[in-house]
Amino acid sequence: MKTDFTSLKEIHEYYAVNNNCGLKKSATQPVYEITPPTSGILFIGEAPGKNEDLQGTPFVGSAGKLLNELLKTIGFTREDVYVSNVVKYRPPENRDPSDEEKDSCRVWLNAELLFIKPKVIVTLGRHALGRFIPNVNISISHGEVFKHQTGIPIFAMYHPAASLYNPNLRKDLAEDFGKLKKFLDTCKENTPEKEKEIEDILKL
Ligand code: URA
Repeated sequence: MKTDFTSLKEIHEYYAVNNNCGLKKSATQPVYEITPPTSGILFIGEAPGKNEDLQGTPFVGSAGKLLNELLKTIGFTREDVYVSNVVKYRPPENRDPSDEEKDSCRVWLNAELLFIKPKVIVTLGRHALGRFIPNVNISISHGEVFKHQTGIPIFAMYHPAASLYNPNLRKDLAEDFGKLKKFLDTCKENTPEKEKEIEDILKL
């Protein structure tokens, strides 16, 4: 795997050429961000939708609007966080990405992770959660923090799009943002007691 990238832009330009994702044929363009997060927090969604495909930027449609509102409730703007997706190209008719499509974008997301070195990864939906923590059910594990083998905490959330028309999921998602804020505040106070508290919160 190529590792000597000096910017996110370089990563995206390299993988936009060096990838064999089947979705490339039907998509308008790859979808990505090029500015690292000021907070060290990385959100990962599933796949771009129609608006993202047209603009080349993740989460700019209705799910993105909701994401921005939820970020605001915990004191963040979009510029504070980095947002990516499991696959970088829009699947036709917004269908779920296949395992093969997810696999072909795997190194691309790995390169983003290596470059950003996030403090916390927030997964939006089951595809993003499954990318890091396989075989867990999102409806049971949303709002929980898992410890990935790299040591990075993985905070599981529902996908904002799923909650757009479901008031129960919307409520869960808002509550999970509250839990995320609490977890981030705990991480900030870097004392040995807090380290222990964080270890206890993490599901191994
Ligand atoms: N849904 C996603 O999973 N990603 C986007 O970029 C937009 C909507």
